[in-house]
Amino acid sequence: MSETNGQHPEAGGTLAESEEDSLLQDSPLEIPRPKRAQGQWALGYMEPLTPQEANKRNQDGLDVFERIIHQYAKEGWDSIDPADLSGRFRWYGLYTQRPEEDKMFMMRIRIPGGQLTAEQLDACAELARRWGEGVIDVTDRQNFQFHNLHIEDIPEAWATISAVGLSTLQTCGDVTRNVLGCPTAGVDAAEYIDATPYVLAVGHRLTGTKEFSNLPRKYKISITGCADRCGHEDVNDIGAVAHRVDGRVGFDVLVGGGLSTTPHMAQSLGAFVAPDELVELCVAITTCFRDYGYRRTRNRARLKFLVADWGVEKFREVVEKKYLNRRLVDGPPAPETHASHRDHAGIHRQADSNMYVGFPLVAGRTDADQMSGIAAISRRYGKGRVRTTTQQKMVILDIPEAKVEAAVGELAALGLQVRSSSFRRSTMACTGIEFCKLAVTETKGRAATIVDELEKRLPDFDDYCRININGCPNACARFQIADMGFMGSIVTIAGVPTEVFQVYLGGHLGEERHFARIAKGARVRAEKMPDYIEALLRLYLQRRLPEQDFSHFLNALDEESLQAFAREAMPPGALVEAGTSEGGSAHAVRDAGEHDDTAYARAQRAARAKAEQK
Ligand code: SF4
Repeated sequence: MSETNGQHPEAGGTLAESEEDSLLQDSPLEIPRPKRAQGQWALGYMEPLTPQEANKRNQDGLDVFERIIHQYAKEGWDSIDPADLSGRFRWYGLYTQRPEEDKMFMMRIRIPGGQLTAEQLDACAELARRWGEGVIDVTDRQNFQFHNLHIEDIPEAWATISAVGLSTLQTCGDVTRNVLGCPTAGVDAAEYIDATPYVLAVGHRLTGTKEFSNLPRKYKISITGCADRCGHEDVNDIGAVAHRVDGRVGFDVLVGGGLSTTPHMAQSLGAFVAPDELVELCVAITTCFRDYGYRRTRNRARLKFLVADWGVEKFREVVEKKYLNRRLVDGPPAPETHASHRDHAGIHRQADSNMYVGFPLVAGRTDADQMSGIAAISRRYGKGRVRTTTQQKMVILDIPEAKVEAAVGELAALGLQVRSSSFRRSTMACTGIEFCKLAVTETKGRAATIVDELEKRLPDFDDYCRININGCPNACARFQIADMGFMGSIVTIAGVPTEVFQVYLGGHLGEERHFARIAKGARVRAEKMPDYIEALLRLYLQRRLPEQDFSHFLNALDEESLQAFAREAMPPGALVEAGTSEGGSAHAVRDAGEHDDTAYARAQRAARAKAEQK
């Protein structure tokens, strides 16, 4: 598994034990102690401070499995303990879906590194067809999401996917979620290392064990062996990026990234981590988070807040001295990628000279028939290997060059475009009001309309413009790292509750990474979004410098120019001025999110309910 055998190129080997001891004893470990107790277990605060913490202490999330199979599935929805329904079910990938009166579930399947076989696709298609009204969503964590399941169906649905090696374990809840990887790991012509074994090993070690089944909050890891950071390492709790130093391959490990209402970019530990050290380091970081993570309030419980408060140097010191019992070897950061968001769409050559083809699913939505068709095409033209991406797309591997056009043609017959427009390729949307109980606006339908309209209105637009649409501030579709990010909310205009979207511009990973800037006061009426995006892009086409792409154009605008640009593009009747009555205060918007119920979220949902009564 290791390319370095634990040896750092400059050190010429791992540190001898006596050297480690002396380094560890350099100075006593001082752990920061906040003025106000934050519910950190390691500081003695074991008493639960939130209902969610109490629920987890009363019984572990992993313990609900038997009850689902042997009790709830037989006795029905009304027999389900509310603490299980809205809490522990998540440990097995089950969320109640909107509207709750329908008594149905959303179910999420974990797909480590996005790696699937045709047989697994067929099983997923069968699941969707038999129990999920045919609907399948590909999420931006490379998972599949199913909807409309009844509790009575869950045991058989689980048996169907378990037979092909798939599981829903730890796809929700305060646990390590699906570990992300590069969709072309193992076949990529430019990768430093096939990170698949590490993606699998880290996920395996942190999943299904009570050692890590009660973390302060959800916890996200991404590991890529390629140069392009396809797993969005910068916005995960742990992001491991392979690179080469003095001829040896190792990982730059970043910590404390995340989005939602308080986005943070992950920071490098400043270490060069040998591949065979990666699992051990991820375990140490996760244990530190479990012990020192904040459990006082849900919206400060992510690792990013601990890392921000301690500083990344102190965080590394605690991990080394308390959990690893050795020093990490210092190392440079991995080089930034020029490809800020490699999406794997299109036709590309693999390292073995076969080709892979990637295609978008508009806003991640597909269905059972398309899924069966993709499985059949992957068998017919490739080796039955399929991948999901972090951008709601799919990839079929291993197609001989001579067969590519036939495969592309068969995908087109399924409605899947390998050579797609910029808009089809780069628009993402979260689940939204269709199924998500936290949503206040529709998303996937709007995304499909935007794609259709822009393809008609700007047929020659061939630049890349990432449009990410979110139904609430929780940022599941990552509006902060899109060229154009839209965050949905409800405002009352002339007494009528109305869907609007706050505009964010210029989010960017890779070189000079930064979050999108809010377009102040630029909230656009939902039905005017195609008009607004079209106008923004036409302005950009008029004003850009030669060779300047949309991302660089936005980055070059100073704050004043960006604000002017955002407002100038607003078509008549589209702008909703700041201060228009919302179901919550502006201050509450900032404090909302992290998928918890807040005053703002409740007020927004109340406004939504009112809108639906009209
Ligand atoms: Fe639901 Fe909000 Fe996440 Fe969209 S961003 S899926 S609406 S919680």
